[in-house]
Amino acid sequence: MEMFDLLAQRARVTPDRPALEDLDSGECYDYRQLNEHASRLAAAAREHWGLQEGDRLAYLGHSRAEFFAMLFGCAKAGLILVPLNWRLAEPELEVLLDDCDPRALIFGGEFAEVAASLGNRWVTMTLVALDGAAAGQRDYHLDLAASTPDFRPHAEKSPDTPWYLLYTSGTTGRPKGVIQTFRMMLANHLNIGLAVNLTSDDVLLNVLPLFHTAGINLYSSAVLLVGGCVLVSRSFDPNQALQVLQGRATIFFGVPAVYQALLDHPEFDGERLKRVRSWGCGGAPLSLPVAKRYADAGIRIRTGMGMTETGPTVFLLDEALVLDKIGSVGRPQLLTEVRIVDRNGNDVADGEPGELLIRGPNVTPGYWNRPDATAEAIREDGWLHSGDVARCDEDGCYYIVDRWKDMYISGGENVYPAEVEQVLEQHPAIAEVAVVGMPDERWGEVGKAYFGLKSDFPAPEEDELRAFCRARLAGYKVPKAFQVLAALPRNALGKVIKQELRDDAARN
Ligand code: ATP
Repeated sequence: MEMFDLLAQRARVTPDRPALEDLDSGECYDYRQLNEHASRLAAAAREHWGLQEGDRLAYLGHSRAEFFAMLFGCAKAGLILVPLNWRLAEPELEVLLDDCDPRALIFGGEFAEVAASLGNRWVTMTLVALDGAAAGQRDYHLDLAASTPDFRPHAEKSPDTPWYLLYTSGTTGRPKGVIQTFRMMLANHLNIGLAVNLTSDDVLLNVLPLFHTAGINLYSSAVLLVGGCVLVSRSFDPNQALQVLQGRATIFFGVPAVYQALLDHPEFDGERLKRVRSWGCGGAPLSLPVAKRYADAGIRIRTGMGMTETGPTVFLLDEALVLDKIGSVGRPQLLTEVRIVDRNGNDVADGEPGELLIRGPNVTPGYWNRPDATAEAIREDGWLHSGDVARCDEDGCYYIVDRWKDMYISGGENVYPAEVEQVLEQHPAIAEVAVVGMPDERWGEVGKAYFGLKSDFPAPEEDELRAFCRARLAGYKVPKAFQVLAALPRNALGKVIKQELRDDAARN
């Protein structure tokens, strides 16, 4: 299989179908225009900015429709796009730039100052200002609508050629650049597109950041490959999202924090959301009370599980099972194999928890510049070690129990904080909760629960919380300490940054 110019092919098949609409700028592109924009970017990068095949091109800016022109333009020119997390502070961005060493940085006007400052340090890096952004003397302006492109992809590339790098959020250590390939995108497309039955009539509302695999591939790239339309939102705004979901979208994917925010909105009304035919959720566990409230409103949220390293889709819950299997992430999808193994690498008995291993064409070839981390993650016969603990029930449905790293051992017993969190989430006063292990002289480790309160609820007494847990959990799982926080620390995708809580618990 050669990697061919997928976007050019798509533009031949459905030139006039709407491909993208930028909800913030109002710009719309059909497939012909999107392909032209991508070709212009490829031509400018090669002819004006001096980039060559294999060079990295970083992007610092909010989510916008042009992002997809950059993504497919890089494929045309054989460049590697690095979408940077714009929420990072400058020193954090520098860590990523040190790692991927880009030859050029495209920036949105909203980041002109940061880009200029980074440009002072990376003097060989060309700065490219998107339309309207201020640019210094040695910078270029990029006007994707300017001229008719004359660009033909120059080299035949393998489907495993690095296409873009996505840095992990670092919730489990130093950020790693996960190599993303054409093969991974196609495999994800088959995994998710077939399961959801995507067609060119589908309209996706994407509210997730485009520096993360969820924003790019769930389901944006999958929808673009079938000729559907992606509505790109700069960032998640519950007002805007509800309006679009009531009016135009047929497909939606959110992380749990997004679903929680929609539910809390005063105008949330399941009756008015009937046009959306597929609701997906992943990235972190969806709390049972939230899943149930959606089900009561007639909305069946299909949970799934994926990773940046797996393109991302691995599991997806069948629509028919949503009510029976709340809490499950479903079954592995068409192109992906999974195993659950114990610490010695042996397959566990049915129903037992163990580490989840994943294999298939959706799995990354590895981490940028990190052969050590790659060898540690992808081992014998191409199995990716996910670092997650999972179990499988008698119907072949899987459950993510927790991360190996988050598990702690109390008095010799394994405690999976996710199980304790699920119990505390049912407490009427608790809006959000995270449990971590902390050192303890007697037991080795014990749990500490950090939680946020629902508005209008006073903080419950510790003894009451302990009794609430004890009624539902074995004694060794009951947290020894509880602490109220105004909000849990979360990353850009809304995941709790447990390392910060672990550090805090160890200090106090
Ligand atoms: P890092 O790898 O640095 O920790 P990250 O957590 O943001 O960063 P991702 O690739 O975004 O990396 O997340 C993948 C992980 O998210 C999975 O390994 C799993 O732990 C968790 N996850 C994804 N979907 C679910 C889900 N439905 N339920 C529970 N956990 C999930």
